[in-house]
Amino acid sequence: MEKVALVTGSSRGIGRAIARRLSEDGYAVCINYIERRDKAEELAAEIAAAGGRAFCFQADVSDRAAVDAMAAEVKRRFGPVSLLVSNAGIAGQMLIQDVGDEAWNRYFAVNVEGFRNCVQAVLPDMIHAKQGSIVSISSIWGLRGASCEAVYSATKHAIIGLTRSLAMELAPSGIRVNCVAPGVIDTDMVQVLGQETLDELARMTPLGRLGRPEDIAEAAAFIGGDRASFITGQVLTVDGGFSG
Ligand code: NAD
Repeated sequence: MEKVALVTGSSRGIGRAIARRLSEDGYAVCINYIERRDKAEELAAEIAAAGGRAFCFQADVSDRAAVDAMAAEVKRRFGPVSLLVSNAGIAGQMLIQDVGDEAWNRYFAVNVEGFRNCVQAVLPDMIHAKQGSIVSISSIWGLRGASCEAVYSATKHAIIGLTRSLAMELAPSGIRVNCVAPGVIDTDMVQVLGQETLDELARMTPLGRLGRPEDIAEAAAFIGGDRASFITGQVLTVDGGFSG
């Protein structure tokens, strides 16, 4: 199998850093985006300028048909996906009393069904090849509770449950499935918290700073790649010691 990576939600933030990192590791990369075509194309151009191969594909991961079309296009251009990084996600803070059906369903559709859709889209070729690697991106809030982020936390717990179960189910097919659980990472997602809270979170982190997208990219590249060939079903927490 050629080294071909599909990274969802990779026009910005953590996904962007992962796509860039995997390209450095020799993967041809599909940069999935939902809105920021300009940012996705900018990254593809950057990768091409560095001698790598990348293309952009717009798809809402909660849309199964769109995800299937994306996987088919990756295959047409580069060959079957050998590494899926399911990174796309949405987050937000609200009291549980304020969580209506629409918000509940959207969180699960993107964070959980999106993961499932991507797995199902790339799996037939991985099973056929009897190899492949899948990395999900959960959160430290997928390992413990998060006040005012109950739905987000529930989706991130579900991602870990799926990851561990798929690791068992797919191991006989030579496919590894692992998870990276980031702590607080300095991206657009956490800007809503405000600078004061972010400074406080950095102070609460034993290593004394917020994480950078590159910190997560390094972990995803490791656990998704061949150096981790005997690792499956694991959750790699990357949080500067926050969850100690
Ligand atoms: P971000 O908001 O910058 O990036 C999320 C990306 O997902 C964006 O590019 C967005 O467009 C994309 N996306 C959202 N909905 C999508 C959909 N339906 N289909 C396709 N793409 C979609 O945030 P980030 O911090 O880079 O987050 C990346 C992942 O890391 C998320 O799963 C998030 O839950 C997780 N995470 C982030 C932090 C953090 O502190 N930043 C901590 C723990 C986990």
